[in-house]
Amino acid sequence: MSVQVVSAAASTKVPEVELKDLSPPDPEPQLGMSSAAVAAMAPPAGAGDPETPALAPAAERPPAPGPATFSPAAAPPAGKVPQASAMKRSDPHHQHQRHRDGGEALVSPDGTVTEAPRTVKKIQFADQKQEFNKRPTKIGRRSLSRSISQSSTDSYSSAASYTDSSDDETSPRDKQQKNSKGSGDFCVKNIKQAEFGRREIEIAEQEMPALMALRKRAQGEKPLAGAKIVGCTHITAQTAVLMETLSALGAQCRWAACNIYSTLNEVAAALAESGFPVFAWKGESEDDFWWCIDRCVNVEGWQPNMILDDGGDLTHWIYKKYPNMFKKIKGIVEESVTGVHRLYQLSKAGKLCVPAMNVNDSVTKQKFDNLYCCRESILDGLKRTTDMMFGGKQVVVCGYGEVGKGCCAALKAMGSIVYVTEIDPICALQACMDGFRLVKLNEVIRQVDIVITCTGNKNVVTREHLDRMKNSCIVCNMGHSNTEIDVASLRTPELTWERVRSQVDHVIWPDGKRIVLLAEGRLLNLSCSTVPTFVLSITATTQALALIELYNAPEGRYKQDVYLLPKKMDEYVASLHLPTFDAHLTELTDEQAKYLGLNKNGPFKPNYYRY
Ligand code: NAD
Repeated sequence: MSVQVVSAAASTKVPEVELKDLSPPDPEPQLGMSSAAVAAMAPPAGAGDPETPALAPAAERPPAPGPATFSPAAAPPAGKVPQASAMKRSDPHHQHQRHRDGGEALVSPDGTVTEAPRTVKKIQFADQKQEFNKRPTKIGRRSLSRSISQSSTDSYSSAASYTDSSDDETSPRDKQQKNSKGSGDFCVKNIKQAEFGRREIEIAEQEMPALMALRKRAQGEKPLAGAKIVGCTHITAQTAVLMETLSALGAQCRWAACNIYSTLNEVAAALAESGFPVFAWKGESEDDFWWCIDRCVNVEGWQPNMILDDGGDLTHWIYKKYPNMFKKIKGIVEESVTGVHRLYQLSKAGKLCVPAMNVNDSVTKQKFDNLYCCRESILDGLKRTTDMMFGGKQVVVCGYGEVGKGCCAALKAMGSIVYVTEIDPICALQACMDGFRLVKLNEVIRQVDIVITCTGNKNVVTREHLDRMKNSCIVCNMGHSNTEIDVASLRTPELTWERVRSQVDHVIWPDGKRIVLLAEGRLLNLSCSTVPTFVLSITATTQALALIELYNAPEGRYKQDVYLLPKKMDEYVASLHLPTFDAHLTELTDEQAKYLGLNKNGPFKPNYYRY
């Protein structure tokens, strides 16, 4: 079977790209797909289907032709055979509006990728002033109370680190460190922490079943052989599992952190010990941040051909400093709201040099990160910072989108009395139907014990609200940026700030009233808790598949534009996680498939389906 993406409307501004299965009906086809991502995703034989025939188990399949094929060896039962497609987001701007607010390294045998040089357009970030210059200053290592990278606050990391390395004041840049194999091509806080980090990575592996499944399948073919991936993400145990998976799939990786505070030093050390050139530590300065990114790309004898970014900083750096690198770069995979927004802006301005995959808007990412992740981490963040009991507490949640729904569900389950504020009547009605009282913030501000913002908007909680809150009211934000609570208005002479714990400030009024401000109004769960590894597994799997797809796509499949992963891949990412729950997916009968007008192997929903 071969699967090819055919642009059905190449001439239009936003071309619709549709699937065309070019394979002849064959009940046991050879795995010779044009897309390694598709091959990587392919589960073992399922029900025969003339349109998307089931694959024979890897052992029964003849070797796949072409350099970029990849036979799955350990497929989950629930998966289906997806086809490659590239679905353009039809209205990126509109969607953006919705979110507007942030081992060992295996060296591949060939190491280089030869490809036709691309014309690199003159680089000028249209949004450079507006976007990149707005970044909050990444100040010194000791000033951990200051703002984290805005560009990175819409993606998540495990913020907890059980080793305290703050007692070592020497900047990693001033240290000469080598791993046990004698390599010094890394810069981490303390290479001696590697063993602790390795344990963290092993723990994360337990909750990242899809990546582990991809690794098993990579024992034969390497869909990322020759890929040189430069990455800029949170450096956590979960990222380490992703990096080691990419390496197992054949890629070489160099990595920096996308956030100056989120790096787990011991994990960075474990990666460096395993041979990954990692440049990151917790508490980097602004200068360190860019230095680390530069060390990843500005290296003799190695040039990246793929970018995995989270926040757009790495992409921006390459655009700004090394635009010629785009001649060799096959694609960008971007994780964050902010980064995706920048890519769409570049695309709109005709300045995007390479194809990019918007991972952020994959259904699996949106639904799981926003709803389920927040449903779990809101309680974790509040508990860790305040030790509070939730039962009977009055809470107001501002915004009943995915994040708000998750927060409300968790607090309700804990016995809290939950009020909701909304501007959108549809979400407001949902809140009512879910049993929450819809109020204006003013109506409840005097009585509530906790105020949580999750709107992605600005000044939702104003100084006036803060003035009216009762003593000991807890105020926090779960939205992307620190604009939702007007924290700046609290920095006035009459109010006293008292740092009572890490990430917990008491702001004290002249009459003695104090409010408890968490993480200075930044994302609570990113700042103060960990994020469930399983949720990160879903995102990381999507990233890995996007990389495989972009890296192996034949010339012309993807233009210099921003693409969403095909729904089938989304469905596949989900299916890879089902075995964890011993979940048994029902298969459509032929009759049912015909009745619904569906392919038995999916996709099962139209693109507009809301889930
Ligand atoms: P969403 O668009 O689904 O929901 C936001 C809701 O807020 C909308 O229903 C909107 O109508 C409402 N709203 C806007 N302004 C309001 C106001 N002034 N008062 C009351 N309601 C208002 O978005 P989402 O997916 O729920 O994400 C919300 C924010 O959380 C975004 O900034 C997103 O980037 C961020 N986010 C955080 C996490 C996390 O782990 N903390 C995870 C994903 C997304």
